[in-house]
Amino acid sequence: MLKIGLFKFSSCSGCQLSFLRLNEKLLDLVDKLDIAYWVMVSDNDVEDSYDVAFVEGSISTPEDIYSIKDVRARSKVLIAFGACASFGGLNSIRNYMVQKDVEKIVYGSSGALSVKSIISYPIDFYVDVDIYLGGCPPSLSDILEVIKASILGFKPRLPDYPVCVECKLSENECLLVNGEPCMGPIIRAGCGALCPSLGRTCEGCYGPQADPNPNSLADKFREIGLSEDEILCRLRKYAGMHRDFRGIAKL
Ligand code: SF4
Ligand code: SF4
Repeated sequence: MLKIGLFKFSSCSGCQLSFLRLNEKLLDLVDKLDIAYWVMVSDNDVEDSYDVAFVEGSISTPEDIYSIKDVRARSKVLIAFGACASFGGLNSIRNYMVQKDVEKIVYGSSGALSVKSIISYPIDFYVDVDIYLGGCPPSLSDILEVIKASILGFKPRLPDYPVCVECKLSENECLLVNGEPCMGPIIRAGCGALCPSLGRTCEGCYGPQADPNPNSLADKFREIGLSEDEILCRLRKYAGMHRDFRGIAKL
């Protein structure tokens, strides 16, 4: 039995919901999984050691720092589960704003903020991560691959090539060539080119592919008429805190 725990930090719980959306596939695996800790679905959680910990969310309070170190110490394999845990995700947009302005937007002019928040970092800012599962949320096929690999004891085979590869395999017309600011060339595949297949530009939720060149894509965005602000917004949206984007996203 593979003993797993699912943990949540600053996030919307969408990655955990995706785990549930495995539906009957999850039922097929139930006799091979001991889900020992998952606050979203159980009130009988055991704070123990785990073979695999799935961690959703970025680290954005002082208490989070203590908790993620504790989870790391109790887990053989730690998975950054989704964009927030892997690269900061949408939460990290606040890192580029004035703290007081953010509090006002979120809590109103009363500023009724009861928690102290800090710069929102991906979990690998504080602890070692064994596997990164990008996506907002991660695809069901990526989640299944990681679970199966953990049960069988091999390294999961996750794509490291760009979304453009999946997009071409789907025979989509290229949005970037047509003058739309698609992030596909620098973003890791795994979603099946979901957005371009629906006529929408890739926004980057899977984070950087293995060998991205954000400077080159930024030049292309300038060529099709994006302002510097618009380029920064696209780079900062999901993965501005990732080392491959941090320089150009100017934190
Ligand atoms: S539409 Fe986007 S993802 Fe598809 S090939 Fe063009 S740049 Fe790549
Ligand atoms: S196309 Fe881009 S934004 Fe859309 S799901 Fe895939 S990685 Fe995320």
